[in-house]
Amino acid sequence: MSEIINVSAIAKIEKAKIKERMESIVKSGKILPTLATVLVGEDPGSVYYMDMQKKTLETLGGTMLKMTLSSNISEEDLLSTINELNADDDIHGIMVLFPLPKHINQDKIAMAISSHKDVDGVNPINIGLLASTSKGIAPCTPSSVVEILKAALGELKGIHAVIVGRSNIVGKPLIQLLLREHMTITVCHSRTRDLKAVARTGDVLISAMGRPLMIDREYVKEGAVVIDVGTSEYEGKIVGDCNLESVLEKASLATKVPGGVGTLTTTILMRTLLELYDKRGE
Ligand code: NAP
Repeated sequence: MSEIINVSAIAKIEKAKIKERMESIVKSGKILPTLATVLVGEDPGSVYYMDMQKKTLETLGGTMLKMTLSSNISEEDLLSTINELNADDDIHGIMVLFPLPKHINQDKIAMAISSHKDVDGVNPINIGLLASTSKGIAPCTPSSVVEILKAALGELKGIHAVIVGRSNIVGKPLIQLLLREHMTITVCHSRTRDLKAVARTGDVLISAMGRPLMIDREYVKEGAVVIDVGTSEYEGKIVGDCNLESVLEKASLATKVPGGVGTLTTTILMRTLLELYDKRGE
């Protein structure tokens, strides 16, 4: 029997925990956790993500400062904006939406975000901490994948996961997070030989390629759990990397797109914002 993982139900449990914590903050009369999200230009995917963040945050009781800047802004001016947010005690988390226009060096911007306010774990300090200790801030998409796997499988120790994709924002941090759970990991990318055969070795298969509907039953081990991180526009619709119908012929559990990993990410973002809020001033 194959099943689609109910990610909304996982998000609901997480939201209930966050709401409880938020209520205690409201009662204390202290400043509410506040996120500043910076959008440069008008990338439709980023605009959608920013609106989703605001909706989730406000439903849960947090606040969000939306900063929409012109795509012509200079790197220097963007760096000054980030420095102002870093210095503002009323801002507890900062997210700059990537990709940035080509004339701005993304690495420089990631490095400029204070590591104490870096809600999506892009500053190299947090990337290093994530790899070397359990203290680094993890980006919310890979963290969501871990929560989904825990909800679906319980104990993850020793399970073999195949990750397809090695980007800085999904694949690489996911390696660290799954290693923390004592999973055994194989990482694939565009140069991997015989991807189907390698993917079929995974008890868990996580696809984060952005290749619409590419993963079908031939990539899936019998009984595997398949997590689809991919989100692409294809023939006027949002689809994932997986051909879900075909995948479910072999998988025991799988996420869908839309309604899968993306359903949890803004909730996890709020959870990370609360962690940063609780550590402020440390
Ligand atoms: P990315 O930076 O483009 O990375 C894609 C990765 O997939 C690369 O490592 C690439 O290999 C690998 N790849 C591409 N084509 C492949 C192929 N045919 N066979 C094997 N590997 C292949 O993308 P990203 O930022 O990580 O995002 C990946 C997907 O996740 C996108 O669809 C994105 O929209 C989605 N996403 C979703 C969420 C969410 O909340 N649901 C959040 C973030 C991203 P190389 O390294 O060799 O090039």
